[in-house]
Amino acid sequence: MWTVTSYVLSQKLRGRKQYPLVLMLEPLFRCNLACAGCGKIQYPAHILKKDLSPEECFRAVDECGAPMVSIPGGEPLMHPQIGEIIEGLVARRKYIYLCTNALLLKEKIHLFKPSKYLTFSVHLDGQREEHDLAVCREGGYDIAVDAVKEALRRGFRVTTNTTLFDGANPKSVRAFFDEMMDLGVEGMMLSPGYSYDKAPDQKHFLGRARTRRMFRAILSNRKKNWRFNLSPLFLEFLMGKRTYPCTPWGMPTYNVFGWQKPCYLLQDGYAETFAELLATTEWEKYGTESGNPACANCMVHSGYEASAVNATFSSLGGFLATVKATLSTSYRDKEALRLLDEPTAPVHPLVQIAPTTEPLQETRA
Ligand code: SF4
Repeated sequence: MWTVTSYVLSQKLRGRKQYPLVLMLEPLFRCNLACAGCGKIQYPAHILKKDLSPEECFRAVDECGAPMVSIPGGEPLMHPQIGEIIEGLVARRKYIYLCTNALLLKEKIHLFKPSKYLTFSVHLDGQREEHDLAVCREGGYDIAVDAVKEALRRGFRVTTNTTLFDGANPKSVRAFFDEMMDLGVEGMMLSPGYSYDKAPDQKHFLGRARTRRMFRAILSNRKKNWRFNLSPLFLEFLMGKRTYPCTPWGMPTYNVFGWQKPCYLLQDGYAETFAELLATTEWEKYGTESGNPACANCMVHSGYEASAVNATFSSLGGFLATVKATLSTSYRDKEALRLLDEPTAPVHPLVQIAPTTEPLQETRA
């Protein structure tokens, strides 16, 4: 928190309006899962074979200057030099969130050393049944939980990251929070899913009103022991208590194509350098207020958490709201209790155990 606070204040003092908070570094797109709601593994085979080298990763991190680096993908543990990449980022004192489905975590854990800079951010989309359905892999939850226990036993920092789609059962999500806290993870990250146009399952993406309703049910009347690894104002944004414009430059994406315009989710071209990304992206064309249909329903963490952090440091009101949200976290709400009892439809009717054998489709990349 101190690192983020001092970094944001220094950016403000310098008068920088567009500053990055978290670099989304995608060193590969390959994955050992084929989740129904994911738009990242639909690349042609020759792209899926590509890896960023450690040097390319370090150059991007140095260019960007963000204090935190999130490493999604694809599955980063499938990168042949992931140990070297993490070691180089720890040496640069970057706070790293290595986002993994944890299927390979026990096998590869010897590549890493516990450090305050390194956190395994384990992808878990809910309780056992919900997670296995979301990732289309029976047994995925048990493998991930087993790996979480092993990582904690070895002294690593571990958080979870959870993507929620339409049909998620708020009661089950709350029970999942209890399970994760009992497991001993440091914090939980949440985001609504984004409607990737190439994701195999197009039926279960949430509109904004439904997103707010769902998160109001889940996050109101909170238990005291739940710890979230997110800005408290971003959680209020998800619950519909606040509105923010998107700040896509707050979490810029670097991958095998270069710096992706404008954000982690859309692909409207690439820049060769971070400076070029900032200078040449037509930012006004993005965000919900822009009228861009691709942004209409988006409330995802990579677009709006940086907005919430920026709001904390932009005014006394934002700062006081953050302090209040941090200190009084119960959010009592009778209507939200009623929402918990509303029936929900199952998220995915089918479990697809093996990766798809259909031909991979070309994308706009
Ligand atoms: S609203 Fe969502 S999709 Fe649009 S630029 Fe922001 S993060 Fe990207």
